[in-house]
Amino acid sequence: TAPPPNPPPSRGRACEPPRARIVTLNAALGPLDYRVPDGMNVEPGSVVVAPLGPRQMLGVVWEADRLPSEEVGDNRLRPLAGMLDVRPIAAPLRRLCEWTADYYLAPLAAVLRMVLPSSAALDGPRQLTEYRPTGQIPDRLTPQRERALATLDGRQGTIRELADIAQVSDAVLRGLVNAGALEPVAVDADRLLACPNPDYAAPDLNDEQAAAAQSLSAAIGQGFDPVLLDGVTGSGKTEVYFEAIAECLRQGRQALVLLPEIALTEPFLKRFEARFGCAPVAWHSGLRSSERRRNWRGIASGEAKVTVGARSALFLPYRNLGLIVVDEAHEPTFKQEDGVQYHARDTAVMRGKFEDILVILSSATPAIESRHMVEIGRYREVTLAQRFAGAQLPSIRALDLTQDPPPRGRWLAPELVGELEANLAAGEQSLLFLNRRGFAPLTLCRHCGHRFQCPNCTAWMVEHRLTRRLACHHCGHVMPPPQACPECGEEDSLVACGPGVERIADEVAELLPEARTAIVTSDTIWSPQRAAEFVAAMDGGEIDIVIGTQLVTKGYHFPNLTLVGVVDADLGLAGGDLRAAERSFQQIQQVAGRAGRGDKPGRVLIQSHDPEAPVIAALVSGDAPGFYAAETEARKDAAMPPFGRLAAIVVSAEDASEAEAVARRIGHAAPEVDGMVVFGPAPAPLAMLRGRHRQRILVHARRSLDVQDVIRDWLAGVEWGSKTRVSVDVDPYSF
Ligand code: ADP
Ligand code: ZN
Repeated sequence: TAPPPNPPPSRGRACEPPRARIVTLNAALGPLDYRVPDGMNVEPGSVVVAPLGPRQMLGVVWEADRLPSEEVGDNRLRPLAGMLDVRPIAAPLRRLCEWTADYYLAPLAAVLRMVLPSSAALDGPRQLTEYRPTGQIPDRLTPQRERALATLDGRQGTIRELADIAQVSDAVLRGLVNAGALEPVAVDADRLLACPNPDYAAPDLNDEQAAAAQSLSAAIGQGFDPVLLDGVTGSGKTEVYFEAIAECLRQGRQALVLLPEIALTEPFLKRFEARFGCAPVAWHSGLRSSERRRNWRGIASGEAKVTVGARSALFLPYRNLGLIVVDEAHEPTFKQEDGVQYHARDTAVMRGKFEDILVILSSATPAIESRHMVEIGRYREVTLAQRFAGAQLPSIRALDLTQDPPPRGRWLAPELVGELEANLAAGEQSLLFLNRRGFAPLTLCRHCGHRFQCPNCTAWMVEHRLTRRLACHHCGHVMPPPQACPECGEEDSLVACGPGVERIADEVAELLPEARTAIVTSDTIWSPQRAAEFVAAMDGGEIDIVIGTQLVTKGYHFPNLTLVGVVDADLGLAGGDLRAAERSFQQIQQVAGRAGRGDKPGRVLIQSHDPEAPVIAALVSGDAPGFYAAETEARKDAAMPPFGRLAAIVVSAEDASEAEAVARRIGHAAPEVDGMVVFGPAPAPLAMLRGRHRQRILVHARRSLDVQDVIRDWLAGVEWGSKTRVSVDVDPYSF
């Protein structure tokens, strides 16, 4: 179709046809200008459809109606193709997008994709059919059908979504529908969201909690106020920030709670429901498209009152946000490691600033960065010093593995085994913590010494006995465990080196055969349903000993769990990473915090070869302030964050020499800047990842230096081919 005729160009501004500058969702494109057709009323933030070549794409109006007309003749501008029936993205969120793009050196389009995560959410079908298992077993049960039903595990979704989950073709699922094993469910993607009631079941708070809740609630509606809610494990931080949410609801505003781990949302949802009478709105990558659409729309319209989500929920277009809570704010999972490499904790504070609202960072073991912000007066601190209902903090003791070693080929010291036995006899639950999935971290051939390495990564293949395979924890590559060594051909020569949680579970089974154990890792708890089943089994007393990774350190509350054993406290300290000590301290403190949360006291045994190490000494003596002070001092001396700034430039390519060459060119082009030091290039810590060779350049700068600006100019002066990727990690978590 021919474009409508344009009026002749004129000098008078009033006669110029309105224009709009659009930011699209395509990261390869910069902002583009379009003509706004007659009758379309756009404003900054409007979500529009713009033609690009033969295609159409979604975009957001960034500026409207005030563009100079010299750049492009009006005649050459194409008209916008349409406008979506959703509220314009409000100014504070647009500012957040700009800030995120600037600060983390990411394309604005990539940030905007988190605001408009799928066009289906904007304009998908309102009525659709989903399917769910009926529990009926089809007469003809092929292995494929059987596997599909097992994987679906009761889940509901469209045929497409279920086919994705079960990794089978649509035809297999249609066959299951015909056989009566799946039944259709009509879904109204526009149905109303339940409305939480702030007065549904308010708890009786103790004095300390009441004071904290009062101080937080009073800040709702009073402007930007970043607060560190610093309370020991089991002190009732959740109950306290729930009161701030209640006040937010009373004022008719929306609240957002960011959680570090989606697998753990189920227990949280239960608790929320008990307090507010209905579940909050969830936002994470596991949503079905109908849920995604409904929740996004509810958030944008203001109907969704409380949203609980992973870090990406931070960029949604809340109509009327009044509060952001970052729960377990010290967790490294809040740092996104690919795409836009933002830190959700820090970005949450920025959103709070732009929205002019209260932001609560809740943690029993705050990051050094967060504590520092309190010290320099940028964040307020609200403290809960006591466990709720008189529960005592657990007693913590170190077990010196050089004095009391486990027998050869075993990992649990005799004293710890004795404690497990005693706990079992007393009918109380225990937890063994080891931050290693699988059976053994390394497999080698006893005959020739061959080690199994991932073909795509600089990493060992980890043996998983439960699923009978070797797996790479970085790229997901799997292989069956070979009968013979691929190098020398020797049969049955493979030996497992070192322990993973599965091996500890075997050891427990041998030593305490009557104990009922459960392994808790991302392999076994991969969905909210699984987490709910685990919680139910713990609460029902069906589990005596849990063996788990960092997944069990988070948020759980089991009153009958009284003993925690840390299998290898030295593990996290190896490697000398900037945050190794802090991370170890947080992790062990959190896992220790699972013990003795009810009326029975808890005890914690920490196995280590070096119990005098500062981290372990601080844990045993309970001197958290001393540990933080020493660690902060060390950071200060080395001008490390938060006293100095870091950025990592990572160059990757399938071809090793290509990656090296580009990294070297970038290294040579490094500008001389006062207060900035450049290290490398050198192979990145994972020198090969997913088949790409990686080189890293580290930038260490003075706090006051605008390091983003320097890096932007620096990289603009270097060119590289399309097969090479260069990404910048500002404030990298590990260093
Ligand atoms: P934290 O997040 O600080 O570790 P939680 O908020 O999980 O602590 O509280 C620990 C346990 O104590 C939870 O089971 C919680 O329901 C309970 N609890 C805390 N405060 C109260 C209260 N005022 N009334 C009733 N139960 C409470
Ligand atoms: Zn790999």
